[in-house]
Amino acid sequence: MSDSTAAASPPTAFVVSIGEELLEGRIVDTNAGTFAQEFLKRGFHVVGKATIGDAPGELTDLLLRLRGTVDVILSTGGLGPTEDDRVREEVAAALQCPLAQVPVEGAEAYLREVYRRFRDTEPPAFFLAQATMPALAEPLANAVGTAWGFMSDLGEGTRLYTLPGPPRECASAFFDGGAIADLEERFQTDTSPLEHAVLRTVGAPESLIEEPIREFLRRGQNPRIGITAGVDGVSLSLLARPEGDSASARTILEQRITVLEERLHPYVWGRDGQTLAEVVVQALAAVGHRVACAESCTGGLLAGALTEVSGSSKVFTHGWVTYANEAKVAQLGVQESVLEEVGAVSEEVALAMAEGAMERSGCDWGIGITGIAGPGGGTEEKPVGTVFLALIGPDCREVRHLKQYARGGRGFVRLQTVRDALNLLRLQLAETSS
Ligand code: AMP
Ligand code: MG
Repeated sequence: MSDSTAAASPPTAFVVSIGEELLEGRIVDTNAGTFAQEFLKRGFHVVGKATIGDAPGELTDLLLRLRGTVDVILSTGGLGPTEDDRVREEVAAALQCPLAQVPVEGAEAYLREVYRRFRDTEPPAFFLAQATMPALAEPLANAVGTAWGFMSDLGEGTRLYTLPGPPRECASAFFDGGAIADLEERFQTDTSPLEHAVLRTVGAPESLIEEPIREFLRRGQNPRIGITAGVDGVSLSLLARPEGDSASARTILEQRITVLEERLHPYVWGRDGQTLAEVVVQALAAVGHRVACAESCTGGLLAGALTEVSGSSKVFTHGWVTYANEAKVAQLGVQESVLEEVGAVSEEVALAMAEGAMERSGCDWGIGITGIAGPGGGTEEKPVGTVFLALIGPDCREVRHLKQYARGGRGFVRLQTVRDALNLLRLQLAETSS
C-alpha cells in the first residue's frame, strides 16, 4: 500500500474498538473518535472503523481481511487482565507466531508486585499474560496501567498498533509509549499538512457565538470550522490546510484564530485541551492572588475543579461546603436573621457566604454559591435552576442571579454553576489586571 505510486494520496488508517461492553452500548466508545482525530491531524485518511466483541477469531479474521487494504490499523481494548481479553492471542494468530514475554526488563516482576499489593497469593496466568505479546511484535509502554501495547507488521504493507482499552492507557501507549514515534518515522512524507485547533468560549449560547463569525462557517472555507456546545461552553474546532506554497496550514489557522478572538471577545477563554479552571488558576497566579469558595448547591464541585489543576495550591486555600443553614451561620458567619428573612437561596446569602469565605481565609477573592439544583425544591418565585453567585474581591462586589437550564437535570445545573463561577472570576481578573 505505501509504495511510491500511492505517495500523492494520504496514507489510510482503520480504527478498531474491541469489547462486548462497547457492542452492547454499556460503554461509550470514545477511543475511536480520539484516534480518528489523531490520524486526521497527521494527514491520514481514516477509511473505516469497526467495533467487535471478544469472541475467539473475531479480531484475527478482521485483521486478515484488512491486511493489504490499509496502511495502518489501530486497535484498542482486549489487553486487560481478564480471561475475555484475548487480543494478544488473536494478533499472534494473524502474525502466525507464538506469544513471548514482553522484551523489557522487569515487565513480569512489575505485574507480580502490583498483584501482591492487593492479594497475598501468586497472580494467575491470565494476569501475568499482560506481560506477554506476539513474538514478532515490539512493545509500546503504558505508563498508567499494567497491560503493554505493541506494534507489528501485519504483512502486505499494513502496520498494526495494538493498544489497551482504558482511554488514559491507550493515550499513554500511543503518545508516549512509542506508537507516534513509529508512525511519524514511517509516514513522514507530506502526510501532516493539516493543522487543528479548538477555540473554547463561555458565556454565550451557540447562536450568539455563530452570528459574528457566520461568514467563516460556510462550506469550503479554510480553515473548516465546526461548532459544538457542551456544559463548559461552546467550542470551535478548526481544521486548516495549506494553500499552495504561499501559506502554511499553521499560518492560516493562527490568522483565523486571531480574527475569531477579536470578534468573540470576551467569550474566548482558551484553546485545545485547556480547562476553564486552569485558565483561572493561571490568571490568579499571574497577579499573585488567592481565592476561597463557599458552596452550597455545588457541594464542593468548584473546589474540586480548582484543585484538579496542578499548581492550584498557590492560589486556592479554602473551600467550604455549607449545605445546611446552620453550617452557613457557624462556618461563614451568615446572619440567621438574613436567612430567615430572604431564605438561603438569595443574593444576600450568596454575598454573605463570599464575604465569610474571603475574610475567614484571608484570601483576595471570595466566591459564594447558593441555589436550587433540583429536581425538587423549586417554587414559582425561585424555580429549579435559580442560583445566586457572588464574587467579592479587590474593587469587586458582584452578585449574579443565574437561571440555569434546568431540563438537563441536577448535575447539569451544578456544572453550569461551576462554569459560571469560574468565568465570573476570569472576567474580573482580566479587568483587574488591565
Ligand atoms: P479492556 O482493555 O478491553 O479490558 O478494556 C478495559 C476498559 O477500558 C473497558 O471496560 C472500558 O472501561 C475502557 N474502554 C475500552 N475500550 C474503550 C473505548 N473504545 N472507548 C472508551 N473506553 C474504552
Ligand atoms: Mg475487554
